[in-house]
Amino acid sequence: MPQNVLITGASRGIGRAAAFAFARAAWRVGVNYHTNRDAAYEVVEAIEDFGGFATALEGDVANPADCAAMVEALQDAYGPLDALINNAGISYVGLFDQTAPADWQRLLDVNLLGARNMSAAVLPAMLSRKRGSIVNTASIWGLNGSSCEVAYSASKAALIGMTQALAQELGPSGIRVNCVAPGVIQTDMNAALSPAELADLAERTALCRIGRPEEVAEAMVFLAGEKAGFITGQTLRVDGGFIG
Ligand code: NAP
Repeated sequence: MPQNVLITGASRGIGRAAAFAFARAAWRVGVNYHTNRDAAYEVVEAIEDFGGFATALEGDVANPADCAAMVEALQDAYGPLDALINNAGISYVGLFDQTAPADWQRLLDVNLLGARNMSAAVLPAMLSRKRGSIVNTASIWGLNGSSCEVAYSASKAALIGMTQALAQELGPSGIRVNCVAPGVIQTDMNAALSPAELADLAERTALCRIGRPEEVAEAMVFLAGEKAGFITGQTLRVDGGFIG
């Protein structure tokens, strides 16, 4: 029986790679996007081209009504969800005193409350089946903290806290909650970094390079699936051995 997964922010970057990785592992995939409709439909078509199943889902994870509508649409198409990948995220680079309250609010609304809203939307069905898995996408900055990314680091640290607490609350119901903490990964989110900055970050990484979205995607597939059946409340660094 194929399993069903909804991946937020799957039009680009790590989420896009996750959509392909889950589809190759025979999962049916909900491909959420916010603004990049064409990119999301390209992901869906590419998955269908190799015989997989995928559905594009428009929505802002910061909006609880959008989240509920996406989950309902995917359940109508494929049946109950086995896994949710909270991947959608935004970054903000700037000094602490140049980060306005509105910037803080949007980061928290998307990076933290987005995961909350999506989790709230999938949980009623997961609880009634006593089955399901949630994988959140934090960051090494949520563990180490990063200069000029205070609000982003705080949003990701809070997501790690949410992961640990929700895992405790949902464990007795047979639902697992874990987190990946990617290091520096080659996506649009890092497009503004100069070659020198990327080289510096690679130098601070044991494997001496920047990561690929596919490498995070494989960790997500592992944590979401039954091979990780006795793992919950954990944060898995996928960072090439980032030293800090
Ligand atoms: P990305 O290339 O910038 O892609 C971001 C994705 O999130 C896009 O699909 C975007 O959708 C979606 N998104 C943004 N805001 C959204 C919203 N409000 N509702 C729904 N979807 C939304 O980013 P990425 O590098 O793949 O990052 C993915 C996740 O990994 C993020 O949580 C990020 O914080 C985390 N992360 C990334 C790195 C890194 O080095 N790249 C490191 C650590 C953690 P649209 O394009 O449709 O708008």
